[in-house]
Formats: sequence, structure tokens, C-alpha cells
Amino acid sequence: MAGLSPMMAHYLETKKEYPGCLLFYRLGDFYEMFFEDAITVSRELEITLTGKECGLEERAPMCGVPHHAVETYLNRLVQKGYKVAIAEQMEDPRQAKGLVKREVIRVVTPGTITSAQALDETRNNYLMGVVYIGEAFGIAVTDISTGDFLVTQVESDRELIDEINKFTPSEIICNEAFYVSGVDIEDIKNRYQTVISSLDHHYFSDEVCRKILREHYQVGTLTGLGLDDYDMGVIAAGAVMQYMYETQKSSLSHITTITPYSTGQYMIIDTSTRRNLELLETLREKQKRGSLLWVLDRTKTAMGARMLRTYVEQPLIHKSEIIGRQNAIEELNMNYISREEIGEYLNPIYDLERLIGRISYKTANPRDLIAFKSSLEMLPHIKTLLKEFTSELLTDLYNELDPLDDIKDYIERAIIEDPPVSIREGGIIREGFHEEADKLRSAKTEGKTWLADLEAKEKEKSGIKNLKVKYNKVFGYYFEVTNSFKDLVPDYFIRKQTLANAERYTTNELKELEDIILGAEDKLFSLEYDLFCEVRDTIASKVLRIQKSARAIAGIDVLVSLSSVATRNNYVKPQINEKGIIDIKNGRHPVVEKMLRDDMFVSNDVYLDNGKNRLSIITGPNMAGKSTYMRQTALIVLMAQIGCFVPADEANIGICDRIFTRVGASDDLASGQSTFMVEMTEVANILRNATKNSLIVLDEIGRGTSTFDGLSIAWAVVEHISNQKLLGAKTLFATHYHELTELEGTMSGVNNYCIAVKEQGDDIVFLRKIIKGGADKSYGIQVAKLAGVPDTVIIRAKELLAELSDADITAKAKEIAEANGGITQRKAVPKPDEVDLQQMSLFDTVKDDDIIRELGELELGNMTPIDALNTLYRLQTKL
Ligand code: ADP
Repeated sequence: MAGLSPMMAHYLETKKEYPGCLLFYRLGDFYEMFFEDAITVSRELEITLTGKECGLEERAPMCGVPHHAVETYLNRLVQKGYKVAIAEQMEDPRQAKGLVKREVIRVVTPGTITSAQALDETRNNYLMGVVYIGEAFGIAVTDISTGDFLVTQVESDRELIDEINKFTPSEIICNEAFYVSGVDIEDIKNRYQTVISSLDHHYFSDEVCRKILREHYQVGTLTGLGLDDYDMGVIAAGAVMQYMYETQKSSLSHITTITPYSTGQYMIIDTSTRRNLELLETLREKQKRGSLLWVLDRTKTAMGARMLRTYVEQPLIHKSEIIGRQNAIEELNMNYISREEIGEYLNPIYDLERLIGRISYKTANPRDLIAFKSSLEMLPHIKTLLKEFTSELLTDLYNELDPLDDIKDYIERAIIEDPPVSIREGGIIREGFHEEADKLRSAKTEGKTWLADLEAKEKEKSGIKNLKVKYNKVFGYYFEVTNSFKDLVPDYFIRKQTLANAERYTTNELKELEDIILGAEDKLFSLEYDLFCEVRDTIASKVLRIQKSARAIAGIDVLVSLSSVATRNNYVKPQINEKGIIDIKNGRHPVVEKMLRDDMFVSNDVYLDNGKNRLSIITGPNMAGKSTYMRQTALIVLMAQIGCFVPADEANIGICDRIFTRVGASDDLASGQSTFMVEMTEVANILRNATKNSLIVLDEIGRGTSTFDGLSIAWAVVEHISNQKLLGAKTLFATHYHELTELEGTMSGVNNYCIAVKEQGDDIVFLRKIIKGGADKSYGIQVAKLAGVPDTVIIRAKELLAELSDADITAKAKEIAEANGGITQRKAVPKPDEVDLQQMSLFDTVKDDDIIRELGELELGNMTPIDALNTLYRLQTKL
């Protein structure tokens, strides 16, 4: 490396200090990348790769992006998961002696990006720190763009995954030990598109972590921050704090709070339940439309939208908190005129949290301050409207909402109404705000009069009628004389430039004026720049007040949104009980009812309790509405615990500690496990973690294996759940195993329900109404017909069904096999309740191992009669 040019040597030194980062190295108007970085960046951004002499034999690969467009390029790289260190020129190259001084001023990473362009304003962008120490995990989560900072700790990797799933951080930093904690790191990366990197062990020293938190929050001990019970959380938080200081290189003064939370403070919703219930996005398309959030979100501000998201992610479990929200919504419903008016004032409010973030970061421009000011103008109106409300939560919000008049007035006095984006070219500061600035500005305007006077004087003296003083950036001020008057130009005019039809001149007097005017302008620009920075810093110093008000606005926005959703959709206020009763009259599915045409949705009742009605077995043909019914129940309970009103005529909801769902089977193929394995893992999780206060929704478990296996598992699961000594959780259990309906009456707390259908000739009509009792028919062929299976197949299937209906399929298969001279001995198929899995071998005497294996693997429960026959025929031809 000895032959390297000094700049390149410096480049490589800097690069070494930021391992794992791409280095954007400022050279004049460009940020350049060299060597490996250049190759990577040119590939990722599809920009041209060139080369640069670097003192070595071969030219260094190089590519660059223009500085004015750097944000776009940065965002693209960061979105692809890269970290980028930005090395700026720290002095004016024209004044530099020798090599221009360059330093890294910021490292931009997926979890720490603050550019408005790169962020989705309706959701937080989280950076998470995870430490794995002694079988447990410390977790810290921050959104650097809003200043949120949360801390917790959990005991198991499942709980950790639940937290990751709740926050979906775009970046995770961790200690080395996390990699050997047993957590599937690759799966997290793929599933959540998260960048995970480990930091050196010194970041996780208990002492260092405590010290940095004490210093940042300026406290003597961490007790005051409520962190006493979070030893591991503190380490995660300390590591995150160091990482933020190192990447941001700023004072992080807008991170004013640190909020410890316990995962038991909220209803626990595990990862698959979150997905299955489509709380924030749909299962298949991963979009908001069609999710619960989509129905509930009528917020007007970005802050409100983010807060509502966390409400949905974290339903409450304490009655008083739920009632608090309900009362506020109810009061807003009653005073809906004020509510609508508040909504109108909320509408123009910009993202105050992120604006104050940018103000603290010194990246806010003059237009940001004007957006900030125009938002603040709304606050007093909202405060006045809130005054009439008396519910506790709204009164609290009223008190917390600081109208920030002084800050608004200050910006109004300082900044003109329509300033430029640039902070270096003046035109920002309002007349009357600063004496010196006013003086310089008037020198500029007076200068114009002086120029006009001079122009008139010279015109008169020379007799050049169209003599004009003009200005451009390159030549400054000059007299312009068209060619026809060239002869009249006096000797003291000094030629500056010749054009096709005119000449440009200056004079000593014009030069003097130019110096004064342009001098004033330069001074004014730099003074305006200083003043603007001062204004921005002054606002930044009020960050605590502003954040408090911003949170109050978010809270008001959420309640106003929930209230107008309740009114629009005819929701009712549910009663909340702690006796474990779930009693819903005419409940509806909040999303499905929106998707259907007017009033097409058929409402249904639900009654579950901790006594005689613990477990409902729900039967009915495919498409009847079983899963809609079960999901709607889970969603209504969840909505009630968010504090929302619910889609029903009446509801009384017993607070649930957790909701579990096992629905569908095809959503987890990415993890590389078989569908059946995923299903069973989830069932295992439910059985281990549910309590008698949980609500469990199980949809067709046992499907992914053979009929008898499946039935046996489903049966045993029902027995386990409904047994009050073992579990006794409230459960909705949809199944296609009609045999399970036999459990009613033999097992306490178990009841049969089915979803009614009406036979109409050959067809069926779905009535969508849940009724007591079990279904006795599957109507598979009718549903197949509805789905558009061709008539020939339907007709043949009906024939086969008629043939098979007297005997069971396997017996019929035996008959066919025997008729073909193949299999001769077979044990009788036991009835499901006599199934002995150990002994169950259908064809004891057949020696052909392949055929036996293949037969063993058949999923009879999933086969149509015709499949069964065809398969048997094929197997027979192998004998
Ligand atoms: P299943 O689980 O029994 O196969 P689903 O719950 O998936 O059936 O329902 C199938 C479709 O029927 C749904 O997509 C929905 O459009 C419609 N549906 C379900 N329940 C209702 C209802 N209560 N009112 C109106 N339409 C419904």
C-alpha cells in the first residue's frame, strides 16, 4: 500500500474504522466509492463503474453519486440492508492547505435512517437490540425518528419471536451469544426482512451500559427510570444507545424517555395468531386492506396512525384501562359534532414527532419549520374543543396538550411564510426579527436604488438611450450597450464581455457599488444561515414539551378515529367482565362485513364461559362460514380489549389473557417444515401456554395426516383442553370429523354447534347461521359443484358416493381388490373410538414393501373416492 496517493490512504484508513459499512467519500460535488464498495454500489444501484488513479499499478474501481441526490441513493442502499458511512469534507477545499480534511459525520443503517423519503409515516421504523445472557433475552427497541425507546426482557425464544413479530424491526443488533441461543436467525432475517449484526462484547458490559444510560438521561441511578427489574433490558438498551451515538454522531436530545414494559402488561398474541387474525395485514397479499387495522384506522395524523397500530398490537388486560378508553370513545360518540370538528383540525397536522426529530438532528430545513408552525396553529383549537369533555382519558389528554403558542409565535416572527428549502441562500428570515439582518437587507434594496441612479446618470452623460445595468452570476453587475450605440461609449467604460449584438462594460463606480451590494448579500446569507440554525436549536431545546403535545395529539387522533369507526359501522360498547364469560349477541366479522355488499353479512351469537360452555365443537360443510365465525369471535374479544366498540348488537366480554389460533395450514412453508409439523408445533405451543383464561380457536386440526391419526389427535386435544384439571380454556373448535360431536354429553363443558345449510334439490344454500347440534353431512360434492368442478366429474362423484355410502371406503376398496385377486387378508377397520394406533396395519401379509409403504403414506382423509379407487387400481397393477 506504500505507493498509494495520500487521499486514497486516508480513504482506506477511514474504511477500516467502519467495518461492515459502505463508505460514501465526499469529493467536490460527488460522493465517491472505491474498490469493493464501488463494485457493490455500481451493481446495486446500476450506476457506471469507472476507475481512478490511486498510486498503484492498477486503477482503483470507482463509482459516484452526485451530492444533491445523495438521499435517494442512500435510501435505496439502506432499504437493501446496507449500512453506509458518510465521509464529508470538513473544510472548504478552496481554503484547505494540503489534503482536504474529511470525517465520517453519520452512519446510516436500516434501523437508524431518518430521511422522510425513506420512511413510511404510518408505521414506526424500529431498531432492536437483543442480548442473550444465561438463557434469557434483554430487549430494547427504539424508533430514532420519533424518539421512542422501550425496554423489556423475556425468558424464552418464543417470547422473543413474539416481540420481534410485534415490532418487526428493520435492524437488530445483538451480542455474539445470540447466535448460539437456538433462535433461528436466518428465519428472522427472511421473514421480517431484517438486518441482523452482532456487536463487539464491550458494548454489552453492564457497567458501560448503565453509565451511558445514566449520562444520557442525566440521572444518578437507573431506579428513577423504572429499570430496576430489567437487568438484561438495561444491557440491551445501553448497547442500543452506544450504537446510536456512534452512528448518529449527534446528541440524541430528542430521545427523552425510556419506557420499560412487561410482556404481561398486554394480552399475549403469539406470532401465528397475529398473522392468522390478519390484525395489521392480510395473510396472503400482506396488505393493509382487508386487515383489522384497515377497518379501525381513520386517523388523520401520522402519529395517530402509528399509535393505533400499537393499540392493535397490544390489547389491554386491565379492566380499568379498557373502560377508560371506552368511556372516552362513548363521550366522543355522543358529542360527534365536536368530534368531527376536532378531526378537521387534526387533518392538517404534520408528523410532529418526526419533525422534532429532524429539528433535533439539525436536518430540518426552513420549510419543515413552516410545516411545523402551521401544525402548531391547530393545537389551540383542538384544546378548546376538548375542554367540554369530562371523561378521564380525554381530560388527561386535554391537560397534556400544550398548545405551544410561544413556539408557534417564535417561528412566525423568525421565518417568512414561504421560505426556500436551501438554508445557504437567504430569503428565510422575516423582516424585523434581527436588526443586523434588516440592515443588510436594506443595503441590498437600497443598492438597487443606487444602481438605478447610476444608470440614469450614465445614460444622461453618454446619451446612450437604452443603457441598462444588468446582473448575472458570472459577471456580476455590468452596463449593457447594444451595438447601435457602441460609438457613444465613454473612455472610462471598461469592456467585460462582447455578445453578438451588444457589449458589456463596467466602471469603477459600478464596481464599488457591486462590492457593497454583493458584500451585503454574502453577509446576509451567512447571517440568515446562523439565525436559522439558532431558531432551530431554540425549538430543539423545547423537545420535551413538543413530544408531550405530539403524543397527546396522537392519543386524541386514535380515540377520534375509533369513535367515528364505531358510529359509522354501528358498533356497540361491550361490557367487560372478569368472570370469563363471552356473550355476544348478533356478532359480525368486522372485515368480512365490510367486504360484502350491504347488509349481506349474517350475524351470529356466541356464548362461552368457564363452566358448562367451555368448548364449542363446530361442524358444517366447507364454505359454510365456520372459520369466519371463529375469527369474528376472536376479533371481537380483541377489539373489546383494545377498548374499541365491537360489531354486535350486544356484547359482554370476559378479559382473556391470551388468544391462540390455529387456522389454515399453508402459511408457513417458508420455514422448511411440513404443513403437518407446523400445525403440530402450534398445537403444542397452545397446549403448553394456554391458561383457563385464554381463548383458543382451532380450525380443522389433524388435517395434514391420515384420517385416523388426525381424528385421534383432534379427539385427544379436545379432551385435554376441556379438562378443567389440565386446561379448561374457552375454545372454538371447527372440525370435519363428525365423530367428535359424540363428545357432547360425555365430556363436561363441550357443546355441539353447526352452521346451517339448506338443501334445495341437488344444491345447498348456505344460511350462515350457527345453530345448536352437530352436522351430519359434509356436502363435499355440492361445494365442489359451487366451486365450478365440471359436471361430468360431479355426476361421476355422485354415483360413486351412492355406491360407497353404505359401506366404508376401505371396505369397498377391499372388495375391489379381492375381486382382482390381489389382497386376500385384511383386518377389520376399527371404529374411530377403538383405534389402536400401534396395531393398525392394514395389509399384514403383503410382502411387497414399496406398495406397503405407499399405502401407508396415503392420506385417506384428503382423498376423494375416485382418487382412492384410481390409486388402488394403480397399486394393483404393480403386484
Ligand atoms: P368455512 O370455514 O366453513 O369453510 P368460511 O368461514 O371460510 O367457511 O366462509 C366462506 C365464505 O363465506 C367467506 O369467505 C364469506 O365470504 C362467507 N361468509 C362466511 N360467514 C358469513 C356470514 N356470517 N355472512 C355472510 N357471509 C359469510
